[in-house]
Amino acid sequence: MADCLICGSELSPFMTFGKMPVANGFLAPDQFAFEAFYELPVGFCAECKMVQLTELVEPDKMFHDNYAFYSSTSAAMAKHFEEFADLVREKYLGPNPFVVEIGSNDGIMLRHFAKVGIQHLGIEPSANVAAEACKRGVETICEFFDENLARRIVAQHGQADAFLGANVMCHIPTIHSVVAGVALLLKPKGVLIFEDPYLGDIIEKTSYDQIYDEHAFYFCVTSLDYLFAQHGLEIVDVIPQKTHGGSMRYIVAHKGAWPVSAAVAAQRAKEQALGLGKASTYEKFRAKVEKSRDDLMALLRKLKSDGKRVVGYGATSKSTTVMNYCGITPDLVEFVSDTTPIKQGKFTPGSHIPVKPHEEFASQPPDYALLFAWNHAAEIKAKESAFVTGGGRWIVYVPRVEIQS
Ligand SMILES: [Zn+2]
Repeated sequence: MADCLICGSELSPFMTFGKMPVANGFLAPDQFAFEAFYELPVGFCAECKMVQLTELVEPDKMFHDNYAFYSSTSAAMAKHFEEFADLVREKYLGPNPFVVEIGSNDGIMLRHFAKVGIQHLGIEPSANVAAEACKRGVETICEFFDENLARRIVAQHGQADAFLGANVMCHIPTIHSVVAGVALLLKPKGVLIFEDPYLGDIIEKTSYDQIYDEHAFYFCVTSLDYLFAQHGLEIVDVIPQKTHGGSMRYIVAHKGAWPVSAAVAAQRAKEQALGLGKASTYEKFRAKVEKSRDDLMALLRKLKSDGKRVVGYGATSKSTTVMNYCGITPDLVEFVSDTTPIKQGKFTPGSHIPVKPHEEFASQPPDYALLFAWNHAAEIKAKESAFVTGGGRWIVYVPRVEIQS
């Protein structure tokens, strides 16, 4: 049994993925012997309805000076953040605005405020990406956000119009301190706008690869209602997003400060229909995840016995769950193609499959490409049309295992 990180009730995991390495821990062969593994169990709190990891990896094992994820490497994500920033500027800023972003990475979103001279502050605990943001003219401090930091920011800069977070709130086990900090930091009409992978999409699509060490929580409106109410805040709008295979953007304000959009009640009703507040939903999800694993491994073994070459596409953090949970080995997947220089020449965590530059994929196209970056499927398939016209085929596993052209 573990204690719920939101309400303190006891909860048991509804499934575990077994021993996992750090999801973003791409490594060199001389590091294989020292690789650490952690259990990855996930639970549902019947009391406050939050889905969460029930054992956590220490943050400094995951987010450190060599953190390998730079937001600005995807063109589609760059465009997404530009639109996110536009929405904030158009709808949510008062006079003399001040915008704060948690987990601001290399400044992919805040640069849109910096370039028009809006007062801003990025908070980014990974030193290497924080340094990159500063180089680009985005004011950034290298710290973890909590109530104490919120007080210091208010003392130095005043309260904020908007507190932004993209794919970061769900990473923070000490979320109560973050939300308490947000409540202190926001002006009376200030808003918290954040987005994270949406639990409803994970359940509907069986996208279990969203579950990995960095994601302490799997949010939906139903569970967030409880969390924000503890801090005098409420969700005033929700906007579904296509990013990360299905995300939700939540707009949160001091209770009563903004009218509540009808979209919020509509989303609650959808969640009730999906059963997100019921333990039985997660038992069914576990059975679907097991079937997905069995189908994928049966396909990969058949392709191997037919003498086909299979290469992975996209050395994502998400793929670490799939490779280690399913038991994908280098004899089934020859290498993983990735355009991120920091990952090339390294090996995938746990499964130790070599990561090679995209040129290797293009020069020796395999028979099948296992699409680990399935959330970018449209962008990738458009870019790789020559792979398919040359006879190559895609293997996808969300929402089900299948071969696609
Ligand atoms: Zn709870």
